[in-house]
Formats: sequence, C-alpha cells, structure tokens
Amino acid sequence: MAEAVVDLDAIAHNARTFVERTGSGVMAIVKANGFGHGATQAARAALAGGASWLGVSSPAEALALRADGVTAPILIWLYPPGETFEKLLLAGIDVSVASVAALDAVAEAARATLHVANVHLKLDTGMSRGGALVDDWPRVFERAAELHRAGAVHVRGIWSHLAGAEEPELNGLAEQLVSFDQARAQAAQAGLDPEIVHVANSAAALRVPHSRFDLQRIGIGLYGVEPVPGATHGLRPAMTVRAQVLLTKRVPAGTGVGYGLDYVTSKETTLALVPLGFADGVPRQAAGVAEFLVNGVRRPVAGRVAMDQVVLDVGDLPVRAGDVAVMFGPGDHGEPTVHDWARWAGTNTNDILTGIGARVPRRYESQHGSEQ
Ligand SMILES: *Cc1c(COP(=O)(O)O)cnc(C)c1O
Repeated sequence: MAEAVVDLDAIAHNARTFVERTGSGVMAIVKANGFGHGATQAARAALAGGASWLGVSSPAEALALRADGVTAPILIWLYPPGETFEKLLLAGIDVSVASVAALDAVAEAARATLHVANVHLKLDTGMSRGGALVDDWPRVFERAAELHRAGAVHVRGIWSHLAGAEEPELNGLAEQLVSFDQARAQAAQAGLDPEIVHVANSAAALRVPHSRFDLQRIGIGLYGVEPVPGATHGLRPAMTVRAQVLLTKRVPAGTGVGYGLDYVTSKETTLALVPLGFADGVPRQAAGVAEFLVNGVRRPVAGRVAMDQVVLDVGDLPVRAGDVAVMFGPGDHGEPTVHDWARWAGTNTNDILTGIGARVPRRYESQHGSEQ
C-alpha cells in the first residue's frame, strides 16, 4: 500500500563519491536507523561503496549492527552517565570520551573484560554540544596520555563536530578549525598521537578541504541529499516514499475536504485518497503547499494532513484507485524531493528522512536483486 523504496546502489555510489572527491576515508553515519533507511542495510551498502567506518549515536544502535553481523569499526558518542562500556568493548566498538570520568570508566571496563578500549577524544571547539570544553582539555589529555601509556586504553582518535558548515557564510567554522588545531597541538604536547583525526560532516567534507583530515563523518550525503541546497556533487537520493491511491471521488465546486474543512474545492474536481499521514512522516505543517506526483503530474495536498492519510486534489487528471502517488524521490520524474518537503514544512532534510514512520515498510533495491 505505502512503501519506502531504498536504492542501496545509490548509497554505495554516494559513499564512493565522497571517497573519490575528497581522498580521505568515510565514516558512514547510520544513526537513527540509517536516517530512516535501515541502519544495517545502509551500513552494508556504504561499506560496499568504500566507507571504512560506521558511526552511530547510541550503544544500542552499535550493538544492533554487531548483532546483524556487521564487523566494520564502529564509533559511538552518546551514552548516559554511569555507562559501563563492557558490552561495547566486548563487541569491539570504539567509544568517544570527553571527560576524565568517562576515560576512567572505559579503562575499568577494559580491565574487567580484558579487551582493548579504543577511545576517540571529543573536543568542543565552539558548538557547545558534546565534547570537552577548552578548560578541561589539559586534564582530559593528561589522563588519556597516562592511561594510554599504561596500556589501559588506546587513544585511537581525536575529533570534533562543526556547528555550521551548511551555512553559506560558514559561520564560526574557521574559528572552530583553529580551535581544533590548538587541541591537537595540546594533545601532542601531552604525548598523544591519535591515528585518526576527524571533524567534517557531509557539508564540510564537500566545501572545506582542510576539514577533511583522515575521516569524514558522512550522514545526509550518504543518503544522496545534497547537504547544501542548490549545490550538486553527483549524489543520488536513495529513498522514494510512495503509496497507492486507495480511492478517488468526483466532487462539485464548493466541497470541503478533511478535518476542519479547511480546503474547499474551487471547481468540480477529482479527489484522491493516499494512505500516508503524519504518523508516516508527512509533516502536518506542509499542508497548503505540499504536492505529490500522481501519474506524472504534481498535485496539491487538499486540506489537513491526517494521521494516516492525505487527500490530493488531482483536478481533471485521470487518476484511479491503484495508481501510485509519490511523496518524494530523486526528482528524476518530476516528483518532489526531500528538499521540497523540508522547505514546505519549514524544517531540514534530516527531519523529513528520519520522520518517515516505522509503519512504512522499507523495500530494498539494488542491481544485485531486490530483497525485502
Ligand atoms: C549526525 C552526525 C554527523 C553526520 O552529519 P551530516 O551533516 O548528516 O553529514 C556527523 N557527525 C556527528 C557527530 C553527527 O552526530
């Protein structure tokens, strides 16, 4: 009825595009169920395309990848205070640390499990989200160096996250990169020499060559959505969301449609019912401006978006039950894109992709054959 078709070849192509364009490694960011595409499927496709690392936010996400048999290096960076890290180390998962307490807890888990604890030191270079504040860097570097020398942890990476590489004026980006250089210099003085340095997200990787270092953490670009609207880097959108029209009805001018009867037909027209609603990720805020592609033509959503369905005003277009209405896709056939929906809803592309509900079955396609 409704489905999200995921083009795994597009994900592989996008990973390859970042590797080739930048000459540095790719950590495929598959958090939030691979931005809605399916974490394990997206991870496998990205690895096939040349990604060498995977990144997810939470321990549970990382352990789920391991449970699915994914063996590539994985980094996680969000966990609660008191996290014990033992399961993560047993599963060979790298941990981001930003405090002496976290370093000590990871070292303790390494002792308890007799497993290597690979850590990546995370610095706050100005975004004021995760990472150690500049005043804490000396303490964190000192303890990290101590534990590293003692063999209690292995300081494998040093990293930060950028606040605004998507903005054309690159707000604060230069200052963040200077701050990151200072962090690396301080870490070196403390005797640390992490093998893997990473800062760039998709936008930075494409726009700011000196942010690339060893690895780029690629999220939105992996799914083929241009991180900077209007720019083109040869990425291929991976997801198409569509549904069959359930029924159509011919109604006269002056017919109210949907909750509140907000929409009133201006002339005799055909209405088409599509089983995708806000629970499936059609943003309520997009009502009034949003369109679907039906039989090759863009037609507006009529009235409010309901939980499970929308009504399209298809005019005199011949549309029948069973025809396909496309919410978004690559745009090759005139269908709306994720960027269109982000604009219509006043949000960003990541919000649209991760908003596609769990109820919408994902169907995977690749030239190596379709799989469910
Ligand atoms: C989500 C995330 C990314 C990916 O960013 P994109 O802009 O989607 O490429 C990279 N790094 C971190 C720490 C993230 O949380």
